[in-house]
Amino acid sequence: MKQTLRDFVGFLFYICCMIIEQQITQLRDELRHHNYNYYVLDEATISDFEFDQKLKLLQKLEAENPQFFDPNSPTHRVGGEVTKNFETVPHRYRMYSLDNSYSKEDLEDWEARIQKMIDGPVEYTCELKYDGASMSLTYENGQLVKAVTRGDGVQGDDVTINVKTIKSVPLQLKGDFPNSFDIRGEIILPLAGFAKMNEERLEAGEELYRNPRNTASGSLKLQDSAEVAKRPLECLLYSLKADTLPFTTQFEGLEKARQWGFKVPKEAKLAKSIDEVLEYINYWDIHRHDLPYEIDGVVVKVNNLQQQEELGYTAKSPRWAMAFKFKAEQVTTVLNEITYQVGRTGAITPVANLEPVELAGTIVKRASLHNADQIKKLDIREGDTVYVEKGGEIIPKIIAVEFSKRPANSQPTRYITQCPECKTQLIRNEGEAQHYCPNVDGCPPQIIGRIQHFISRKAMDIEGLGGETVALLVNNGLIKNYADLYELTEAQVIPLERMAEKSAENLINGIEASKQVPFERVLFALGIRYVGETVAKKLAKHFKTIAAIEHASFEALISVDEIGDRIAESVISFFTSEEHKEIIERLKHYGVQLEISAEKLANQTNKLGGKIFVVSGVFTKVSRDELKKLIEDNGGKVSGSISAKTNFVVAGDNMGPSKKEKAEKLGVAIISEDDFLEMLQ
Ligand code: AMP
Ligand code: ZN
Repeated sequence: MKQTLRDFVGFLFYICCMIIEQQITQLRDELRHHNYNYYVLDEATISDFEFDQKLKLLQKLEAENPQFFDPNSPTHRVGGEVTKNFETVPHRYRMYSLDNSYSKEDLEDWEARIQKMIDGPVEYTCELKYDGASMSLTYENGQLVKAVTRGDGVQGDDVTINVKTIKSVPLQLKGDFPNSFDIRGEIILPLAGFAKMNEERLEAGEELYRNPRNTASGSLKLQDSAEVAKRPLECLLYSLKADTLPFTTQFEGLEKARQWGFKVPKEAKLAKSIDEVLEYINYWDIHRHDLPYEIDGVVVKVNNLQQQEELGYTAKSPRWAMAFKFKAEQVTTVLNEITYQVGRTGAITPVANLEPVELAGTIVKRASLHNADQIKKLDIREGDTVYVEKGGEIIPKIIAVEFSKRPANSQPTRYITQCPECKTQLIRNEGEAQHYCPNVDGCPPQIIGRIQHFISRKAMDIEGLGGETVALLVNNGLIKNYADLYELTEAQVIPLERMAEKSAENLINGIEASKQVPFERVLFALGIRYVGETVAKKLAKHFKTIAAIEHASFEALISVDEIGDRIAESVISFFTSEEHKEIIERLKHYGVQLEISAEKLANQTNKLGGKIFVVSGVFTKVSRDELKKLIEDNGGKVSGSISAKTNFVVAGDNMGPSKKEKAEKLGVAIISEDDFLEMLQ
């Protein structure tokens, strides 16, 4: 009897395991499918919210049932593993570089060399030359097993953990793929994603990333894969390597790779002659700016793999492929003067003031010189004729000096040692390229910059006070920090330039009104390094009062979602300053909101639980901003544009017709202001 019972329990256990395994497999398949649609095909087929729910469920099931571990489960996309040293590993197939060509003649010479070795006609595949970091991915039985950087071509760094977080890299292939092969591609940062990363840096007062390419390759070597997961990287594939391949031409290879789930751009084209190749090149030289990512040329490849094999390789590169490099848009002009700017954080940026010149459709007067090393490396001097280029950079840069035109009396540039604004000795931290003015509380541009940040729209949003007035107030000795604003009187400001009685009154009223600005925005306004708008919201929500933040330990700070070491250190360092403590005491005294209001605490709910809203049009009962706040206070998210992930569009009067059409097409619910307010009841 006992035996049968035991058998029965064992049997039940077995059935349960089967059901759980099935559930796990099904969830993994579903998530993979949605990932593929979104990141490879650019089509969303599930809302963010639902995706997250499924992912969380899968994470839970995997944690409870470690026997079903799969290194390529979609749960590994979010990263989390930390690598201190990336292991160097050999490439199975060497990664060659490409020969470069710059003209029609170069390409015709190449064709002539090919024709000496090959009988019969030759066709070419033309592809875009993606400007990023090269990558080799190894797949076994349809699973990604390794991702290695190019390195020296023979061996590279194993960055598999980081590459797994790039959503367009398939972890599991579909269709009829070979058992074992390598695929080559380029890890890139699309321009929109790059711009967004820089917006966030700007907001947090950090130095901007220079260009998408370096940022992409730098990302691969980040130690924390969770950081990599946050970057909008993509992987574009272009070439397959295996002992035997199930196709006979490069072009077919691209198609196959696409079928197996890889992101292979569709711009590739077949050309029957070098003339057709040139047509492709000319087209993309003009239209390259329409692409969502940067390219620096075109790669032309002999299409037939048999012919490729006959042509073989030189010591460095394949004879069957040729890169055609676009000319970077470049001009020469005279550098009149080098000046130095001091930013809000005290960072010094040398600026080249140029003789105005037209470049890529705009007039260029200034270029960044980045830092002292850069000036020294290129030996840039005032009076020099310099080459200015516009690549993916935000402002143009100087790439070289035309030494033949250097004036006879030219002197090497002596980088400044003192702050141009306050004469304090500059410092340069170990390992950093930038010089800093350490006089945080006495250097005018730093003081002005901080107060300008304090009053800016997303911070205290003080009506009647602009950036120029702040500079006037500081320069006239009326204020030294943002707490001083609250002691200003009309009588003090009326004598200022361009200040009338009415505007003085508005200014003082604006300052008074800012005492109602909610805590999270005050926290952002304080200008703590790395504490941007989003981080401020997170901290305010978690700690609720400035005192709690001030006294939070490092551990307590990093336990908050998305707060890392760097932010925590910066917050702690901010509050160790006696001056900062005093300023905050004063703000408290004036009545500035330094904690979440009781009313707000009472108003916060999770009624909208992660639902994504888009707000469009004009509203009658609440303002747009109030509406957005209501959404966030009640646990919803506000997004700027409609996608399949949107749950609701709250439509006011005059909702844009294209928005309406898009919402209807995607089947997103359109609700009125009243419907929305009802949801909160
Ligand atoms: P280079 O670094 O100038 O020698 O150019 C060779 C590199 O171009 C290769 O290592 C690839 O990383 C990159 N590349 C970008 N797009 C392609 C493409 N469509 N085909 C081959 N290589 C490409
Ligand atoms: Zn200074």
